[in-house]
Amino acid sequence: MATSRITGTTKLLGVLGYPIAHTLSPTMHNQAIAHLGLDYVYLPFPVRPQDLAIALQGLGVIGIQGLSLTIPHKQAILPHLATVDPVAQAVGAVNTVWPTPEGWAGTNTDVAGFLAPLLSMDRDWTQTTAVILGNGGAARAVVAACAQLGCQQIQVVGRNAAKLAAFHQSWLASPLPVRLTVQTWDQLPALLPQAQLLVNTTPIGMDPQTTASPVPASSLAKLAPGAIAYDLIYTPRPTRFLREAQHQGAIALDGLEMLVQQGAAALEIWLGRSAPLDVMRQAAQGGLAIREPA
Ligand code: NAP
Repeated sequence: MATSRITGTTKLLGVLGYPIAHTLSPTMHNQAIAHLGLDYVYLPFPVRPQDLAIALQGLGVIGIQGLSLTIPHKQAILPHLATVDPVAQAVGAVNTVWPTPEGWAGTNTDVAGFLAPLLSMDRDWTQTTAVILGNGGAARAVVAACAQLGCQQIQVVGRNAAKLAAFHQSWLASPLPVRLTVQTWDQLPALLPQAQLLVNTTPIGMDPQTTASPVPASSLAKLAPGAIAYDLIYTPRPTRFLREAQHQGAIALDGLEMLVQQGAAALEIWLGRSAPLDVMRQAAQGGLAIREPA
């Protein structure tokens, strides 16, 4: 929104993170708001971990209409919420909140964001084995999404045995139908021939380490024809992992559509109306283009 359009009635939305300067969310949301002709503005708020509670209190008092949460607040926000929907409960993280008479309500739109490009494909997901690289926060949203798809099997690959065991344990009591096993990286070559969906949730290959890939090209040759390689990273586009997977015949998906779709899902919650996906997609692409070195 141009600052000249901010008036005495303009409503506030925003994103809490630390650091926050890299975020594309204000660009996406403000262009969507301008397109819809609404009297809102979406701002970035750098909030240190120890200041989350006071920031929520202050923003609540001044009548903020909705917030996005990014690193490091996605788990830390949970104790501050009056209600958390089942998807966010299963993931154990919240990226979208809004005020209600009872207090803050929260959900996790990363799950819907991740799913959106997959749901546009004609696949029998019940016959799908998903292999997920990494066991951090984003991997939790991807596991919940794969469970929602009805994947036959979910294999999570990690480097730390204790973290993998804790990850496995955390899904045992999940209300979602999660058929999950955990594996160490040395098992990956044996998993690839069955992987119809291979998802990178590690930061390996992200700018500035753009020559790195989580899977050697020789292993990607083991993927079945028509397998989907999905990288949550969106800088660069494509990553080395996606370039090499595509070269082996895989269908490549990068993380930009997930970013756009999770933002659109959040905006729809806050505004109670459809979000202009094309506008948000173009805004995100434009925001990335500005960042890229000439
Ligand atoms: P995170 O919680 O820190 O998790 C990262 C995971 O990657 C951890 O399991 C970590 O292993 C593993 N890892 C990191 N470096 C590794 C290495 N060199 N070798 C093997 N494993 C490694 O981060 P996150 O929030 O899940 O985010 C992960 C990625 O997803 C980031 O690139 C982020 O930008 C992207 N993301 C994209 C979207 C989107 O909308 N497109 C949304 C969310 C996240 P340990 O646990 O053993 O340390």
